[in-house]
Amino acid sequence: MLVFCPAMSPTVPRRLGVHVSTAGGLPTAVERAEALGCTAFQLFTANARRWTFEDLCPEVGILFRQRCRAAGIDTVVAHAAYLLNLASPSRELHRKSLAALEAECRRCHQLGIELVVFHPGSCPPEERREGLRRIAAALATVLSNSPPDLTLCVELTAGQGATVGGSLEELAFILEQSPCPERLGICIDTCHALAAGYRLDTEEGYAAFWHRFETLFGSQMLRLLHLNDSAFPLGSRRDRHAHIGLGHCGLSCFWYLLHDPRWEHVPHILETPKGRDDRADRLNLWVIRQLAAGITLQPQALQQLWHEHGTV
Ligand SMILES: [Zn+2]
Ligand SMILES: [Zn+2]
Repeated sequence: MLVFCPAMSPTVPRRLGVHVSTAGGLPTAVERAEALGCTAFQLFTANARRWTFEDLCPEVGILFRQRCRAAGIDTVVAHAAYLLNLASPSRELHRKSLAALEAECRRCHQLGIELVVFHPGSCPPEERREGLRRIAAALATVLSNSPPDLTLCVELTAGQGATVGGSLEELAFILEQSPCPERLGICIDTCHALAAGYRLDTEEGYAAFWHRFETLFGSQMLRLLHLNDSAFPLGSRRDRHAHIGLGHCGLSCFWYLLHDPRWEHVPHILETPKGRDDRADRLNLWVIRQLAAGITLQPQALQQLWHEHGTV
């Protein structure tokens, strides 16, 4: 019988957290993360579905840093807005995306955030290479105008529709084209990887994926992990996140990751579905902490637990 007791969650040496809401102001995000026992967290510095080019009030930055320090959280990740499309053939959209990413970096500097993750964007299939080159050029511009301690992380996508960056090779192409690859990093999202066709749920598939990663980039280029299960199956090229262990990645995928010493120092952020309160986050974090502590869970028992807690 599986007993869900967040208070008894084993502490995990890894930097682990979730994407938290900023409703009520950016500094409130720190409290939410702290309440969940996070040692790292992710947020949007502005509305993710709107164009924002503004800086923050200086007081917000100061308060945010103070709260992070008081909470003992030194790893905060900013997720750039979804509207950004640095691969776009439209000059107007490209220019706007670049300006929005520059503003994102300025806000991060105010908040003391050193890691920004973004989706590479989309473009018509016949000009993918051009699209990837446009991303690399835009990143060079953004980085030349931002503080040297900032790292931009390109996220592997599920490869849905006209989206670029749905393979490790496409991400490698962006980095190859970039004049400053040392200021770039890679974010691997487990849901996206599985949906893009990478078998992370078997030992062989997991080993093959990371072997390819290390061959193309070297392990130091992995700067961020998004731990999400996938609602759609292997190779579906659809991006829908599911609760940990209840999707097609399955518990095995997360077990392998959490016991892989190569990723010990990489922040692990969950972007799993949320409910009205933070119960879903608590349960997903609990599952990750159990696995990290070497405790095996049965998928059926986990299903049962979700039904009892009323969020599935
Ligand atoms: Zn993600
Ligand atoms: Zn996603």
